[in-house]
Amino acid sequence: MSTSNGEKRALVIGGGIAGPVTALALRKAGVEAVVFEAYESSAEGIGGTFMIAPNGLDALATVGLGAEVGAIGQPIGPMLIEDGRGGVLAEFAGLPDLPPGRVMRRAELYEVLQRRLRESGIEVRYGKRLVGAEEGADGITARFADGDTATGDLLIGTDGTRSTVRTLIDPAAPGAQYTGLLGVGGYSPHRLPGRAGRGETMHFANGARAFFGYWGLPDGAGTAWFSNIPQPEQLTAEQVRAVSPEEWLRRVRDLHADDLPARDVLREAAADTVEVFPRLEIMPSVPHWYRGRMVLVGDSAHAPSNSSGQGVSLAVESAVELARCLRDLPDHTAAFAAYEALRRPRVEKIAANAARTNNQKSSGPVGRALFRLLAPIAMRTFLSPEKMLRPVHGHRIDWDRPALPVASGATGRQRRAVTAP
Ligand SMILES: Cc1cc2nc3c(=O)[nH]c(=O)nc-3n(C[C@H](O)[C@H](O)[C@H](O)COP(=O)(O)OP(=O)(O)OC[C@H]3O[C@@H](n4cnc5c(N)ncnc54)[C@H](O)[C@@H]3O)c2cc1C
Repeated sequence: MSTSNGEKRALVIGGGIAGPVTALALRKAGVEAVVFEAYESSAEGIGGTFMIAPNGLDALATVGLGAEVGAIGQPIGPMLIEDGRGGVLAEFAGLPDLPPGRVMRRAELYEVLQRRLRESGIEVRYGKRLVGAEEGADGITARFADGDTATGDLLIGTDGTRSTVRTLIDPAAPGAQYTGLLGVGGYSPHRLPGRAGRGETMHFANGARAFFGYWGLPDGAGTAWFSNIPQPEQLTAEQVRAVSPEEWLRRVRDLHADDLPARDVLREAAADTVEVFPRLEIMPSVPHWYRGRMVLVGDSAHAPSNSSGQGVSLAVESAVELARCLRDLPDHTAAFAAYEALRRPRVEKIAANAARTNNQKSSGPVGRALFRLLAPIAMRTFLSPEKMLRPVHGHRIDWDRPALPVASGATGRQRRAVTAP
């Protein structure tokens, strides 16, 4: 199924974040890609805000998106952990040699990615929901819900936490796990004092009944906020829509009635900016990342909880690493094995750390009190920014370095990619 000039052709399933970045990285690696997205149109304009960490910005720069992504959203440096009563428990100043992370609307990043795909001549086919795939000796055929098919050399599952490709690779693969938390977020004209008001810092506060995050908007334009609310039974999108934004805001105000500055931020918050996210989900360890000509990238393989602030960054890192492996290892099985060996230890470690934070977010009053007590001690002893942030934010992918096959003799999850000197 190779192209007329002998290039490999990849079918990339999912046009969220990992999909477009995988397609762009593959292009750079000399592999042709077509993106298939289930929705009928580009998701530009959909809601939500996220932070891309320095490691994610660096991976995006590898595929030539550094300047464009660096021009959207808002740079955020120090992160402050607060006690929910207006006091600071700990501050992570960020690492001086790294650029700050950037907070942006999901829609802003989609717009940049879609524009770059168009400029690069990479085709995106909308309304193509993958339902099956058949592999032959020299290619793989994807089947879509509308009856259409497409054939290529490789099929790459960038189809998120509820991935179909993951089930095609391994019907027994675990599904996404609900975190027990509901996300609610929005904007408030409330102006914060000091550097918080100048939009230089990100704040996280474990309140009396729920977790609160906030940051000042540039030019003192107000405050962006989110709350992670313990919600044992996962709500459907319909259940979320059945409750008005005013009522969601009332509930969040009640939960944070005793928390500062949450109470003040929420008092002025605008109901028409409220968004609710019922799908705070994580992926447990996925035993098989690839089989035959199929492989997973992004949330389909490794979705850490949103507490990590790393979902996007790890997704784009994986996209770039897969392309690098396919560039250097002509046999796709060797490339997939090298890719998994490079990525699995890193993503699983970050996911495990984030899961601990999540448990803390959904803990009861005793857990919260303990956190207030222990956080300052931990910061003074073993949780230095250097130890906490360097391995995650300081990660760099050396695109020019050749990817080498995994060490022979190693098997399955014990494999480690051989690294070039
Ligand atoms: C409330 C919330 C806050 C978050 N905050 C942060 C943050 O601050 N920082 C951070 O780094 N991460 C954050 N994340 C995580 C981040 O959103 C994900 O890690 C990221 O979107 C993963 O990208 P992806 O492309 O792998 O998956 P997705 O973005 O989920 O994209 C998957 C795409 O595949 C498509 N698709 C699905 N099934 C099929 C199919 N069968 N056929 C074709 N197409 C299909 C979907 O329609 C979708 O477009 C947050 C997530 C949530 C929910």
